[in-house]
Amino acid sequence: MDFEYTPSEENFRQEVRQFLDENLPAAGNRSADFMDTWLNKVRDKRWVGFSWPTSVGGGGGSIMEQVILKEEMSARKAPPLGTCMMGLAWVGPGIIQYGTEQQKQRFIPDILDSKYHWCTGYSEPNVGSDLAALQCKASRDGDDYVINGTKIWTSLAPFASWIFMLVRTENFGKTENKHDGITALLVDLSTQGIEIKPIENMAGQKVFAQIFFDNVRVPMENRLGDEGNGWAVTISSLANERSSIGEVTGLYTKLEKLTDLLSNSRWNGQAAIDSKKNRRTLARFEAKIEAMRLNGLRYLTQQIKGEPLSSETSVNKLHRAELEVEMGDFAVETLGQAGLQLRGQEAVVGTGYWAADSLNWPTVVIGGGTPNIQKNIIAERILNLPKD
Ligand SMILES: Cc1cc2nc3c(=O)[nH]c(=O)nc-3n(C[C@H](O)[C@H](O)[C@H](O)COP(=O)(O)OP(=O)(O)OC[C@H]3O[C@@H](n4cnc5c(N)ncnc54)[C@H](O)[C@@H]3O)c2cc1C
Repeated sequence: MDFEYTPSEENFRQEVRQFLDENLPAAGNRSADFMDTWLNKVRDKRWVGFSWPTSVGGGGGSIMEQVILKEEMSARKAPPLGTCMMGLAWVGPGIIQYGTEQQKQRFIPDILDSKYHWCTGYSEPNVGSDLAALQCKASRDGDDYVINGTKIWTSLAPFASWIFMLVRTENFGKTENKHDGITALLVDLSTQGIEIKPIENMAGQKVFAQIFFDNVRVPMENRLGDEGNGWAVTISSLANERSSIGEVTGLYTKLEKLTDLLSNSRWNGQAAIDSKKNRRTLARFEAKIEAMRLNGLRYLTQQIKGEPLSSETSVNKLHRAELEVEMGDFAVETLGQAGLQLRGQEAVVGTGYWAADSLNWPTVVIGGGTPNIQKNIIAERILNLPKD
């Protein structure tokens, strides 16, 4: 791998730095309408979906330029380049890869303009790890599919306008060839027959939901990819999801927060940051994050060669799950009892960030597939070990 950047890539880095100097006020100095102004400006630069093709409204940037953009943005703790999180991370890439021209023109500009949220409907009450066993059913009726069934743990569903979901169009009730007969649909959540029931998580937030579908009619033009080919669409979406979950920039920011916490806490009569044990722990965290960053460069090499992401993204997804839990536990231990207090509770320290963070572990550990499932994928598809 060549770690050097070309002169034109370095020029691009300078352009991003200059933009940030001119357009990113210090964190405490941002007006109420800053976020809207920011989103418009980065959109005008075509930096939202920067590596997506210009034919769909993307920036047409190279993958390396996209990396430089992310590096510079995260070094300056800039806000995200768009708020349509799932749209940018995997629904948009899925539509670009499998969508019809009409779907691209209809959905991609809205994703780039942060118009609304997408959510993702894979899991069902009895279907999670074994996703191919899904039962939510769609039958053909004229030019429509009619959906009946339910999806659960659907993140962002209480705020989303559209869902990217998997349904079964064939092989009902069969356990053989269950990967066949799965179809991906793009569904407007305001369609008649859809009910969204928010579920409260341990931290008291209602960020996911169970969704019920009762004779919901979806036009065939909203099918993503061929009928029965939903599994292939999902493999690439899940790889994109797992690679985004495995991203290290957020971990570096978290490590900084943890270092600040130790600098401002006392431990056995001394500054917690001066304890050798604590410093070793921080160093271990940093070494793990750096290992993930270097491993992430393998995915990058693969993408530069034009090869799709697949099972290998499970490696960083697995590491991130372990590391986030370790970091959260370490922070809560450092804070003692105060580390258990959420925002609004009596003895809360600051914003209660670490209590909320440690209660949110299922997002990174279970969301996108559990550690056991990542280990199975790594064992079977990367190490070629016998099947589970
Ligand atoms: C915060 C959060 C957000 C989520 N967001 C979404 C979302 O947006 N959309 C969506 O569709 N889903 C979402 N999910 C659901 C998530 O994908 C599933 O919870 C997950 O895949 C596990 O499925 P399950 O809960 O049915 O558990 P199960 O599959 O029943 O697993 C239970 C236990 O058995 C283990 N296990 C299962 N099979 C095997 C095996 N073959 N080998 C070894 N161990 C095994 C698992 O590792 C786990 O420990 C979310 C979950 C959480 C917690």
